[in-house]
Amino acid sequence: MKDVPAVCGGTPLFERDAAERLSAWPPADPEIGEAMQRAFADGSWGRYRGVHSDRLAKAIGRAFERTLVRLCSSGTIAVELALRGLGVGPGDEVILGAYDFPGNFRAVEAIGATPVLVDLDETSFGIDVAQLECACGPKSKAVIASHLHGASPDMPRLLDVAQTLGLGVVEDACQAIGGIIDGRPAGGWGDVGVLSFGGSKLVTAGRGGAVVSGRSDVMQRIKVFSERGNDAFPMSELQAAVLLPQFASLPERHRRRLAAARQLGRLLEGCRDLRPVACGRTNCDPAFYKLGVWFGRDEPASLERDDFLSAVELEGIPLHAGFRGFIGRGAQRCRRIGELPTAGSAARRMMVLHHTTLLESNDTVERVGVRLRSIVEALTSGGVSRNLAPPGSASVPRPERFDEL
Ligand SMILES: *Cc1c(COP(=O)(O)O)cnc(C)c1O
Repeated sequence: MKDVPAVCGGTPLFERDAAERLSAWPPADPEIGEAMQRAFADGSWGRYRGVHSDRLAKAIGRAFERTLVRLCSSGTIAVELALRGLGVGPGDEVILGAYDFPGNFRAVEAIGATPVLVDLDETSFGIDVAQLECACGPKSKAVIASHLHGASPDMPRLLDVAQTLGLGVVEDACQAIGGIIDGRPAGGWGDVGVLSFGGSKLVTAGRGGAVVSGRSDVMQRIKVFSERGNDAFPMSELQAAVLLPQFASLPERHRRRLAAARQLGRLLEGCRDLRPVACGRTNCDPAFYKLGVWFGRDEPASLERDDFLSAVELEGIPLHAGFRGFIGRGAQRCRRIGELPTAGSAARRMMVLHHTTLLESNDTVERVGVRLRSIVEALTSGGVSRNLAPPGSASVPRPERFDEL
């Protein structure tokens, strides 16, 4: 039977209730409820300090193979703390990808440092290590390497090059908790690894973050900056209590998401307009906070990404536009290396599928893949009016928006 997308008058894959269930996060695990109950019973929910933070820091240290862990209030502040830990200060430069989480650009600015934009590598969809040498000037102090949308930078090579150039490495693993890259945990490679426990993230307390490191000088600077008679960027005991059981369930969820991402990859094989970003190396078990999917082709622009996303939204599938990237940022705010073609292309063409879809049954994942292909076919065959509502106007709530800051 032919698969008819909603944009062609078919039945949406997920009607409103099903779509809301599909996007629902955090998980209602009984262990999390019990952790809250225990924190209530023992009064730790209302105290400055307790056992949960210590236990969580130890669990994170084990998971990321790092001896030093500092819990904090968000991934955004964790990036800033990491940079400060590496001694970045006013007037310095920090190299980062021209397509990245918006807050990372702002974290560099918050310190009074200047962002230096380099392109992403087309294959790995991580920061292009080959551009580091050219980007690195006398004021360059650090590089931010982010794991984005299931892809990862070439971490072994990046560490080598950064060391030669004297750059500290901030490894942003906010989207990659649980992932293994070249045999090592994502987040456990850099001089400082950065984690987020924000409300949509793979492990969540609504808010929260952490920095991990093997370098005591780095952690000491972070400590001095954070402790002002009180911790200026704290994680609460209650947050730590609800995070602990999630580290226990992470490996099983990670495997399910990875299997579903691979299944979707197979379903989209041969579809030229939908290409999942892939971790191109062996020995990798990437984590998927969002599964990145390239839309369309660069030339000629046969289809508009927004038309496609509007049609997808009618199905209740939580697939949205990726980051806008930084290629539009003015020269007074940053220095840029070359034309940044891959970052520019990603800003126009990247789409991201929310991780909750990857926890669904094989059958549901298959129906999602088939439907996405049907929509491409319907739009390319020209059988659909282009007067679609812009994405974001349908009734299903978006899980999270990263608007330009
Ligand atoms: C979510 C995210 C952050 C910031 O984390 P918050 O806890 O939301 O502040 C930083 N970097 C990346 C890549 C992220 O996805």
